Amino acid sequence: MNVEEPWCIKDRKLDSELKKLDIWLDFKRGSRFPCPECGKPNCSAYDTREKVLRHINYFQYPTYLHIRTPRVMCSNCGILQIRVPWARGLSHFTLRMEAMILELAQKMPVLQVANLLGEEDKKLWRVIHHYVDEARSKEDFSDVFVIGVDETSRKKGHNYITLAVDFEDSKVIFVCEGKDSSTITSLSEDLQNHNGDPSNIKSVCCDMSPSFISGISTELPKAEITFDKFHVMQAMNEAVDEVRKEEQKKIRN
Ligand SMILES: [Zn+2]
Repeated sequence: MNVEEPWCIKDRKLDSELKKLDIWLDFKRGSRFPCPECGKPNCSAYDTREKVLRHINYFQYPTYLHIRTPRVMCSNCGILQIRVPWARGLSHFTLRMEAMILELAQKMPVLQVANLLGEEDKKLWRVIHHYVDEARSKEDFSDVFVIGVDETSRKKGHNYITLAVDFEDSKVIFVCEGKDSSTITSLSEDLQNHNGDPSNIKSVCCDMSPSFISGISTELPKAEITFDKFHVMQAMNEAVDEVRKEEQKKIRN
């Protein structure tokens, strides 16, 4: 757990009935802390509050850290709660627990992760949104030149979403709701918000959707459109089937 000065473990209790482990953390009397806002060192504790964080399981038991967390008096910023080394800001979870949530959320639905960990899914979504937003804000699309665009639905035939993939990086770079031409407008805006340029896009692979074709010709003016093989073959197979059915009818008559 990396408990370092001025912190110390004050108490621990393994409750086999409630199936949980509680650990109480405290700081040494007279300790001084940097201001969480301006970084001014050696601020003295003003008062304390208990902060409870869910940690990863030990011995298969959910573990909770009860941290006696000081507020410090900073001459520049006033009275502020310090940042504890095990968590970020106002999170209910420790950093190690958040890392586990992110790891599991890549492998199973979030509701399933919530059931597995015995937590509300909305708390997990808050963690996921925080790190996804942070990672996305750092994305740089200045060297995106060749993309693929396709739509999919969450339920069969309902709730369409459109995805764009950077083919050179094999990476999804954009997702939004819908499948009309406005999705390409949103994609173009998102490229610009991340250091990209819609006129850098030289080639787009998509299905034969008139909405995509019209959106691409307006929003990505330098892009050549390639219809992907899967959709071309699908359209061809449908056409061949039609002809076959017609011929069968003629033979029967
Ligand atoms: Zn300060």
